[in-house]
Amino acid sequence: MKWVWWGAAALLAIVLAVAGIAAVRTATFKPAGAPAAVELAAAPAFDVNAAAGRLSEAIRIQTISRTENVVEDPAAFAALHALLERSYPRTHAAMRREIVAGHSLLYTLPGSDASLPPILLMAHQDVVPVEAGTEGDWEAPPFSGEIKDGFVYGRGAADDKGSLISILEAMEALLARGFTPKRTVMFAFGHDEEVLGAGAKATADLIRERNIRPWFVLDEGMAVIEDHPLTGGPVALIGIAEKGYMTVRVTARAAGGHSSMPGADTAAERLARAILALRSHPFPGSLDDGPAPLMLEALAPKLPLMTRAAIANRWAFGGVLTSRMAALPSGNALLRTTIAPTMIDGGAKENVLPQEMHAIVNLRLHPRDSVESALAHLRGSVAGIEGVTIEPSGTPNNPSPVSSTTSDSYALIASAAAAHAPESAPVAPMLVLGATDSRHYVPIAENVYRYAPVWFREEDTRRVHGTGERMSVENIGRMVGFYAQVIETGSR
Ligand SMILES: [Zn+2]
Repeated sequence: MKWVWWGAAALLAIVLAVAGIAAVRTATFKPAGAPAAVELAAAPAFDVNAAAGRLSEAIRIQTISRTENVVEDPAAFAALHALLERSYPRTHAAMRREIVAGHSLLYTLPGSDASLPPILLMAHQDVVPVEAGTEGDWEAPPFSGEIKDGFVYGRGAADDKGSLISILEAMEALLARGFTPKRTVMFAFGHDEEVLGAGAKATADLIRERNIRPWFVLDEGMAVIEDHPLTGGPVALIGIAEKGYMTVRVTARAAGGHSSMPGADTAAERLARAILALRSHPFPGSLDDGPAPLMLEALAPKLPLMTRAAIANRWAFGGVLTSRMAALPSGNALLRTTIAPTMIDGGAKENVLPQEMHAIVNLRLHPRDSVESALAHLRGSVAGIEGVTIEPSGTPNNPSPVSSTTSDSYALIASAAAAHAPESAPVAPMLVLGATDSRHYVPIAENVYRYAPVWFREEDTRRVHGTGERMSVENIGRMVGFYAQVIETGSR
């Protein structure tokens, strides 16, 4: 009988030890990547209402991107360039402006120390079209740039003319007070981000040819979310990586023939089995790598005690945490490569068995995966199904590498982000689920970050690319101040 008691005592000791370690780790938990605060240069004086007026003018110029490699209205880009030149005379006098790939812009303000790698800020000039028939649902016409109730309305207000205008407003205000950088400052404004990013690619290639390797690149991608689903409060999220993009075409073949005498197996059934096989073999998801664990660590102080305990003790609770996160589509997307069947086609007539049917499946690749490894995973999932093949379709993008959260440049951007975020908002690294122009700069820059200091509620994020896109005048003020501080502090 005695050994039973000894066993129970030993088990109790182990449980107590584990609980003790977990409690200590929770109490003393400090996120590994918490950056040191950087002392920021004071923001220059500027007129936020005048800036809003210039954003409104930029919105009225319809620089729409619809099709890859097609610039629908070249005159619109020329008009936008002329507006920028007219609106920012000091910037255009001090900075060298080059036109790349027809309509993209590259600005350079040489620093006094040419040995220092430059900083590079990005935005894009083009906008997505407005869905026909939805124009009347806007609070103000989509290309009016109307300013109403503290908002500038129109396509591009948030994506991405707000950033474009604010970066130039910041430089104009800095130059007005005699700004002379030590480090070279560059701006790159692409013209087809919404379709391909050929302008950004050409600009990045040009910079590489000149043997310039930026210290950091700052582009659009993330912002302050005022009602974050995890903390329930505001969070400033800095994109440190972006997911890759890949579409595959699944083909199922079977004997055709008359539908009055169907065989044992049809193309439709094979295709259905293939889709189910893909969906039931998800990519592995984990909190061991990528931006998600860094984000959770940074948010930990704002999370409930039990969640905080789980984050501080991932050695014990990592599995539980991962499955809790994976239960939400937005959480799941941060943990793994996602698989989304989006289109199905095949069959020509109701009484004919098709010999071939197709499905289109869209994937968003986690930084731990690649186009090649993802394709191999998918093919492995359908290996046992007769007549099914999978081929890539379109141009896939590999995921970006993950930029550092311990670099001096991250500390600078995080400090400037904190200065323009709600006081209680933690600053956290994040994985960007969409693609931005900055992916073309990944091979040539030390680190690439994706952030603008705009405060968005979930509702606002749906307006981007949707109906009622707008930017508050308050957000314009935050952007101008933020960009000016990043430029001046980063280049001194
Ligand atoms: Zn954009």
